[in-house]
Amino acid sequence: MRDLGPGPFILTMNGGSSSIKFALFRDENPLVRVVRGMIDRIGLPDGEMVISNIMTEQSEHRVLKKPDHATCVNLLVEWLERNVGIGSLRAIGHRVVHGGSKYSRPEPVTSAMLAELRRISPYDPEHLPSEISLIEAFSLRFSSLPQFACFDTAFHRDMPRVARLLPIPRRYDKMGVQRYGFHGLSYAFLMKELARVGKKDDVNGRIILAHLGNGASMAAVKDGKAVDTTMGFTPTSGLPMSRRSGDLDPGLVSYLARTEGMSVDQFHKMVNTESGLLGVSELSPDMRDLLAQEQSDSRAAEAVALFCYQARKWIGALAAVMGGLDTLVFSAGIGENSPVIRARICDGLEFLGMALDELRNQAGQGVISKEGSGVTVRVIHTDEESEIARMTAQCLCGGPD
Ligand code: ADP
Repeated sequence: MRDLGPGPFILTMNGGSSSIKFALFRDENPLVRVVRGMIDRIGLPDGEMVISNIMTEQSEHRVLKKPDHATCVNLLVEWLERNVGIGSLRAIGHRVVHGGSKYSRPEPVTSAMLAELRRISPYDPEHLPSEISLIEAFSLRFSSLPQFACFDTAFHRDMPRVARLLPIPRRYDKMGVQRYGFHGLSYAFLMKELARVGKKDDVNGRIILAHLGNGASMAAVKDGKAVDTTMGFTPTSGLPMSRRSGDLDPGLVSYLARTEGMSVDQFHKMVNTESGLLGVSELSPDMRDLLAQEQSDSRAAEAVALFCYQARKWIGALAAVMGGLDTLVFSAGIGENSPVIRARICDGLEFLGMALDELRNQAGQGVISKEGSGVTVRVIHTDEESEIARMTAQCLCGGPD
């Protein structure tokens, strides 16, 4: 792959347990994304790597036999060596889902940070171990290349104490068991976009940011500060998601243990991979599939209805926290692409001053509420990779804003 232009470049890594998304940005002001890539089905017999040159729209596909994280890093490094030369890489920025109570801003990766992330890995076994293994694999190959960790929890770290406190025995709070909140890189990006595209004072109003993708959450932002969010100690809580349950009655844990002998691991697997849209529909975790089947299958219809109902309920709760609502932002796969879900979520929120404009909602860009309505509803495309690259570039220049 040629035509990537001269370096230096910043590589961004967004690693999950079974997939890695990455991007290469030319380190200019503003940053220019030149490559996007994805390694999918890690750990399965038929993994796949796709790398696309954004300038030329050329793509390379490669089938991988049972790839693990270290193999993926090696393949990516080989690709970088062939196409840009490792010498032209300035830094790597990693998305790190959980920063615990210690990390509230992007920081250079150090051995002390890795030790802390290993210590808090039980907070989020779905994400942290694979993120640590990616960072370690890069350190092994390039010990002198700077790596930075950009934390999804950081956006919410200044939430008021009352929003962070969990109503369980106090000793757990001291041990770091609190509401953290996630999707912070997406929220940081959306706030910047709102400042760019909105009216002068929009970012200082009462805002709900709704990140509705496979993972789904909402954040309440008032006077430019995060004040509450739907996710909690782990990304399993809050709204129902593609495969995650969202909030549940805690009594379910002991009930299922007593009646079905369900173990901790089985419960963890159920609420993280077998619940949400997939669990209720028994058909698919994918909203598009469910919308296509809701007329013919009542399980699909119920899953979609539950998602919209819970989203509406959370908007009401977060608006109550802020004493009202000025701006609602829809984002991520479902929020950006589904007019019908947006309409169903907003239906019934007229008491807050919400009124969608049908044509604008169908068009799905910019403001989608009626002129003069009490709440401005917007669709904004989120871009976590850009936010990681921007944070990394800022760290290289001496620190985040
Ligand atoms: P991730 O959280 O993995 O990044 P995305 O933000 O891409 O996921 O969101 C994926 C979700 O978005 C899936 O449920 C998918 O069905 C949904 N989605 C994408 N396009 C549409 C659409 N046109 N209508 C409804 N849902 C959509």
